[in-house]
Amino acid sequence: MNTNELLERRYRVLGKASPLFYDQPLHFVRAEGVWLYDAEGRRFLDAYNNVPHVGHCHPRVVEAIARQAGTLNIHTRYLNENIVEYAERLTATFDDPLSMVMFACTGSEANDVAMQMARLCTGNRGFIATDFAYHGNTTAVWTVSSLFTGAEERGPEVFAIPAPDPYRMPDELGNDDPGEAYARTVKQAVDALQAAGVGVAGIIFDTIYSSEGLPHVPPDYVRKAIDHVRAAGGLYIADEVQPGFGRMGDHMWGYQHYGVVPDIVTLGKPMGNGHPISAVVARGDLVQEFGGSKMYFNTFGGNPVSCAAGLAVLDVLEEEDLMARAHAVGKYVQQGLSELAARHPLIGDLRGRGLFFGAELVRDRATREPATAEARQLVNSMKERGVLISKIGKHDNVLKMRPPMPFANEHADLLLSALDECLKEL
Ligand code: PMP
Repeated sequence: MNTNELLERRYRVLGKASPLFYDQPLHFVRAEGVWLYDAEGRRFLDAYNNVPHVGHCHPRVVEAIARQAGTLNIHTRYLNENIVEYAERLTATFDDPLSMVMFACTGSEANDVAMQMARLCTGNRGFIATDFAYHGNTTAVWTVSSLFTGAEERGPEVFAIPAPDPYRMPDELGNDDPGEAYARTVKQAVDALQAAGVGVAGIIFDTIYSSEGLPHVPPDYVRKAIDHVRAAGGLYIADEVQPGFGRMGDHMWGYQHYGVVPDIVTLGKPMGNGHPISAVVARGDLVQEFGGSKMYFNTFGGNPVSCAAGLAVLDVLEEEDLMARAHAVGKYVQQGLSELAARHPLIGDLRGRGLFFGAELVRDRATREPATAEARQLVNSMKERGVLISKIGKHDNVLKMRPPMPFANEHADLLLSALDECLKEL
């Protein structure tokens, strides 16, 4: 199939608004490990996709899905061992008191359930969410996803706060310690929700602040922010859709970096290595109270095939020691990025943890003027050199690199040399 013909067919049935990456979209036909192959047989290094967490088409996951699909697939209102075993294995990776789980199919659904749970269990309605966050696309979750929603769409029950980003601290926060100053914005949100009469059901944030541009979260910010929320009777919802499952290298879950255990955690993308499965892991008392007063059932969530995929992902993570690899390879990439930053003034700041990297591009290191057009050009020229990355952040000027976990030093070398060449061309 000719790629241009396919594009025309797609426009006719999906419309032009259905998003596609790149000025010239890519047409992939197969993948393996960290590599994707297009219709013309060209090979691309995947330094962007976190869904194929343990590697594209990992044989262990493919086999587990196929075996279970050929044996039994049924929803969760019948007993099946896979869901129980997976729930046991998954919850064992969390800190006390996060001991129970509810399954869904997408990150959006998981966050929607988390919001319902927080509202029901606290009796409050209000949520605090970060400006430029993304948590999904259901009607409720959209209100806390201000990457796309303006203040009027968020309504009176959601208060948006700035991302805790010391690189771009707004003037109105003054010269205070960044952790203290940003935590004050949480207190202001708490006060505003209480004054509006909706109270605080919770705060929700992505623990690596991915859509917000991977800021260097100031030490103590999270602890202080959560103290304010809990003092008002609200809960802490950690969105682990992007950082979870060992990507951070030193911890299985992003929240563990801050030393504060959430009340509710949501999971998605990497969980089934591409098979749609997501989850809400929470304090047992919250799950019991929510489930007891509102029957939660999800036809596809947690079915035996999805759980077989999830179990295989956990097996591969362990057997291939992928978290430790993420740590080691992550350090190697950060070192290479620092060397690039020393030679290319366009790189204003380096970000990330484990196998998740950001580079904020600026036209001038003193004024920090965002290099938005340059970031777009760079992402496209990286693709021309056969490497997939993307860009994010409030100014769309932070390069985003988040490869599958088997990404190794040899792949890092390819990524870094392509970046070097593309930066030289700008
Ligand atoms: N939370 C975060 C942090 C996400 O990045 C996303 C998806 N980009 C979601 C939630 C929503 O997940 P899904 O697309 O599976 O609904």
